[in-house]
Amino acid sequence: MTKAFLGIDVGGTNLRFGVFDEDRLLASYQIEWNLHQRCAEASSEQAPQLVVEALASGYHRLREQCPEIQGVGVAFPGFINGQGVLLQSPNLPQLLHFPLEQALQETLQVPVLLENDANAAAFGTYISEKAHDPHLQDLIYAGLGTGVGGGWIHQGRPWRGENGAAMEIGHLIVVPGGRRCGCGNQGCLEQYASAQGLVSSYLEISGMAADPKIIAQLARDGNPQAQQAFGILAEHLGQALAHLTKVLDCREIRVGGGLSQAWDCFGDTLQQKLQKYMIPALSDTVQLMPGNGDDQAGIWGAASLARALLFP
Ligand SMILES: [Zn+2]
Repeated sequence: MTKAFLGIDVGGTNLRFGVFDEDRLLASYQIEWNLHQRCAEASSEQAPQLVVEALASGYHRLREQCPEIQGVGVAFPGFINGQGVLLQSPNLPQLLHFPLEQALQETLQVPVLLENDANAAAFGTYISEKAHDPHLQDLIYAGLGTGVGGGWIHQGRPWRGENGAAMEIGHLIVVPGGRRCGCGNQGCLEQYASAQGLVSSYLEISGMAADPKIIAQLARDGNPQAQQAFGILAEHLGQALAHLTKVLDCREIRVGGGLSQAWDCFGDTLQQKLQKYMIPALSDTVQLMPGNGDDQAGIWGAASLARALLFP
């Protein structure tokens, strides 16, 4: 029997489930589930149990189709330590210091691995790239979605740091005294390079509200205000990525997340900005590209990490 692993990607508004064998998606399932709202409506005692039950129901549903599931990887937004404890999830104050990995393992009765969502997406991207470049060991990942997440795959594994907070690149301050951020600071990258950041930039420039898809279409049609909003995103993201290359000396950079589908609106400018801010002698050594563009990096990364770490 093939060894199959379930990857679960816990997003702000959706839960995604995918069962994979070595390199194939065997079955998948997705439900709309507003994590922030559900947790906010529950008490601090109920919220952890609600999350466990939601994940368990998806597991049981797919288990009927794929009884060969050997283990489960969960990509979750927040700081996760080496013991699988969710230390803090910035937008979910109800889940402070919650041993989610252990709670799920006890409920599902299979081995579970918990990973930060951006790290899991970084690992999923890394595994896809490694299929074409077997020597690949290090990769920087930036995920542009509701927020901005980051991951650094170092020597084939996500780098978590002491408190699971490594590569929180969305909270690098790129505009001192700039837009207010949910983390309590001002001028964080997330406020300029996320979907919400793009919307805020466009609103500031044009005085009009529009969602990211419309702003992308306007930019493609030559609207200078929409192009300027993407220019702001590229300027700050390019600067932040250049800083990272100076700290990590890593030559592969991939940009994923929902906004990466608008790569044609900002990719060239991002490339120029990255080169502008890098150490000049090294500026042509970096490979900056969009990720594979689908939204499977999270479930694929979570399932692949479970395979790699639960049964090494
Ligand atoms: Zn912040």
